[in-house]
Amino acid sequence: MYWNREIETMPRRELEKLQLDRLNSTLERAAGSPFYAPRLTGKGVAPGGLRSLEEIASLPFTTKDDLRSDEGHPYGFLTVARKELIRLHSSSGTTGRPTTIFHTRRDIVTWSGLVARCLTMAGVRAGDVFQNMMGYGLFTGGLGLHYGAELVGALTIPAGAGNSRKQISLMKDFSTTVVHIIPSYALRLASTFEELGCDPRSLSLRIAVLGAEPHTDSIRRRVEEIYGLRAFNSYGLSEMNGPGVAFECPEQEGLHLWEDSYFVELIDPATLEPMPEGEEGELVLTTLAREGMPLIRYRTKDLTSLRREPCRCGRTHLRIERITGRTDDMLILKGVNIYPIQVERVLMSFEEIGNNYLIVLTTENHIDQLTVMAELRRDFFRGDLSALEELRRRIVGELRGEILITPRVELIEPDSLPVSEGKAVRVDDRRGEGKGP
Ligand code: ADP
Ligand code: ZN
Repeated sequence: MYWNREIETMPRRELEKLQLDRLNSTLERAAGSPFYAPRLTGKGVAPGGLRSLEEIASLPFTTKDDLRSDEGHPYGFLTVARKELIRLHSSSGTTGRPTTIFHTRRDIVTWSGLVARCLTMAGVRAGDVFQNMMGYGLFTGGLGLHYGAELVGALTIPAGAGNSRKQISLMKDFSTTVVHIIPSYALRLASTFEELGCDPRSLSLRIAVLGAEPHTDSIRRRVEEIYGLRAFNSYGLSEMNGPGVAFECPEQEGLHLWEDSYFVELIDPATLEPMPEGEEGELVLTTLAREGMPLIRYRTKDLTSLRREPCRCGRTHLRIERITGRTDDMLILKGVNIYPIQVERVLMSFEEIGNNYLIVLTTENHIDQLTVMAELRRDFFRGDLSALEELRRRIVGELRGEILITPRVELIEPDSLPVSEGKAVRVDDRRGEGKGP
């Protein structure tokens, strides 16, 4: 079932024509903002607009730093009078000072429509009970999904983040069928179910929307297994409204990115040149349907690759692969580049390993050390010491194969690592602090 069949299945040629029209009106609009005015004039934007989508390559990129700059922050990107704005959101600030985005009434309507499209694609319907376990407030995960779920007609519970016992009683009391949850939190919540002696599979849950942080397919499968439901990957970022940018269809082979609302490019983050088809690069997005605060060629810092071949579900919008991390997540150790998700991929392939882990970086005698602290699953925690040592060695070996340096591995008790209510913190960089792990 489609939320908007015409748009979702639009033939590519028509879709591209729509994109070009919208891109040109976006550029015209953006040129009216204090930030873009000097940057877009004389930059090859012909008076009649761009003649092809490829010509976008002549325009400058926009970065997170631009949004944070004195020229950009707070109102430099606005193309409407301030009285036209009805909402602001900001990013979580995972990698620095948060960025702020303003929305007009029409922007909120457009965004809610995109989220409704995603939820419908995953099978959410009027009559579902949708428990939104994301932080409400400046973070876009809460209100963004909330408005979309209401639009679909689901009974929407604004549960917010954290408060595990309360979440479980809401699920029981109101027979929740759909949850929106951060994947690392979904795994942690499983421990609370265990403490309460309650089997999550005995509840009415059928769909989980997993978003806000990178996670491997093994994590998805663990969530599906624990809760007895189907989990869908949801991608978005506050600079592009928030959730509703890209989402998995029932085929679950990549996430459809809504090209009527976002123009997609993929670049090499080092050279800024377009990435060859099929290779991984940094996602660059241009808003095509935003009124109050359009962004041109915004560098998301998120790493993925594109799939342009048609999808069996009938939607014509291209798909992105599961995000593997951010360009600034990359750790450089002993000259080797490592992404936290590589460590996760190895750890989650061991059934003995539980649901939480932490990568600790230290300097000892001027040499960088990487320690992986991984929680064991409760049923393996009682294992005899020699079996644990043998497991530890196997994990070290597999990690060495993946990240090309030899890490230390510590296997620790379940639920012993610090947990976050929002996005999981996977790396603790203590280099320069002079202490060990
Ligand atoms: P911040 O950049 O401060 O974390 P946001 O709250 O806007 O701010 O979060 C957006 C970011 O979260 C994305 O750029 C991406 O790195 C990450 N993210 C969101 N959804 C997913 C997902 N499904 N898979 C991987 N990463 C995701
Ligand atoms: Zn599809």
